[in-house]
Amino acid sequence: MQPQPPSSDQLRALDKAHLWHPFTQMQDWCAPEHEPLVIASGEGVWLRDTEGKQYIDGNSSIWTNIHGHGHSAINAAIRDQVDQISHCSGLGFTNKAAILLAEKLVQLFPPDTLTRVFYSDDGSTAIECACKMAIQYHQLDGQNERCAFVAFDQAYHGDTTGAASLGGIDTLHQRFSSFGFDTTHVRDLEQLKQLPAGMISKLSAIIIEPLIQGAAGMKLWPAGMLRELRLWCDAHNIFLILDEVMTGFGRTGTMFACEQEEVVPDFMALAKGLTGGYLPLAATLTREAVFEKFLGSQEEQKTFYYGHSYNANPLGCAAALANLEIFEIENTLEKLQGKIALLKTLLTEHLKPLGHVGEIRQCGFIVGIDIVRDKQSLTHWPAEQKTGAAVCLAARCHDLLTRPIGDTLVLMPPLCISNAELETAVTALAKSISLLTPDS
Ligand SMILES: *Cc1c(COP(=O)(O)O)cnc(C)c1O
Repeated sequence: MQPQPPSSDQLRALDKAHLWHPFTQMQDWCAPEHEPLVIASGEGVWLRDTEGKQYIDGNSSIWTNIHGHGHSAINAAIRDQVDQISHCSGLGFTNKAAILLAEKLVQLFPPDTLTRVFYSDDGSTAIECACKMAIQYHQLDGQNERCAFVAFDQAYHGDTTGAASLGGIDTLHQRFSSFGFDTTHVRDLEQLKQLPAGMISKLSAIIIEPLIQGAAGMKLWPAGMLRELRLWCDAHNIFLILDEVMTGFGRTGTMFACEQEEVVPDFMALAKGLTGGYLPLAATLTREAVFEKFLGSQEEQKTFYYGHSYNANPLGCAAALANLEIFEIENTLEKLQGKIALLKTLLTEHLKPLGHVGEIRQCGFIVGIDIVRDKQSLTHWPAEQKTGAAVCLAARCHDLLTRPIGDTLVLMPPLCISNAELETAVTALAKSISLLTPDS
């Protein structure tokens, strides 16, 4: 006899017995009244739990999914690759999927700009790789002192020690802030320009999430800021690292956010959406001039000694290739423009008039909605009330799953969402926000 598959309740009990979830107060998670959803399957923008209930994936499974779950082309690409080989080392060998993907990634940027691709596993490692390349470049250039970084207040660049040291969100980053890279945080471009010359001369690179800071609460940079930052970096001969881990792959309406201000960075970090949100794979792209600085005989010790076991993982690369091909075959970006406009209309009609909606920020297909206790004075509920989380919990009853950042609701569905599904998602938020009172 086949053993019975575990029930939802058994799975939940086992989870509470053995798992430790990210960014999660496990005392709350393990409390008897908390019944976590166990996700069993996904199709398009829909996630299905073990009880058969369906929800729209309102935050693209934490900002990763691009063309929907279970896309036949990505599934087929992964299956096909599994049948050939799932993993072989990028150290000492190479593989077809990794080669073809690198060519395709490079072609997404203006000719002769970002010509080199270094693979790793996730956003944090893509960032650390860029930082180490920047530091080592300057060492090889005889400028050992140029090893510091500027990052922005409220920035989020990942959780490994180096990446976290670039972060500027106190709750997430303060505890370990004395470890990692030598990083100065600035509020904006004005503050950057006021840094003392002695400090500027020690900078290796400036890192930024272009157009929009994600974990900060979907905060938009002023238009033109990125372009101006690029010019400032050029004037001071400082590398510009763009963290497009969240914004990459169409999320802002263009393939990459930096296109909107005609900026090309010196290092580009890509992860989350790279594989369409199917597998962990990341890439750090850089310029030929950076790459060439590391060339020399073995004895010269210029080699970039960095890499992870799953470098150039064929499964991830095959998924990423399929992800990029879908953009071409399905005209994803072209179709997206109408959806971005519709999203704007839906937000204006259904959310803006509501009593407890403050600022709504939209960057392409990424939306942050501030909920406020009082619309006139923009006052908030006490943070410990977790009002944003309560609204998202309520939205589940209207078929939408998403996660807030404090009292900022996040809506960033997969790009493949239909107009009708988009309306369902926005009205689900509207219905849930409508339940709020000043005493919520
Ligand atoms: C998610 C994210 C990261 C970190 O990526 P991981 O894959 O979680 O390590 C870095 N930067 C930005 C902007 C992100 O959104």
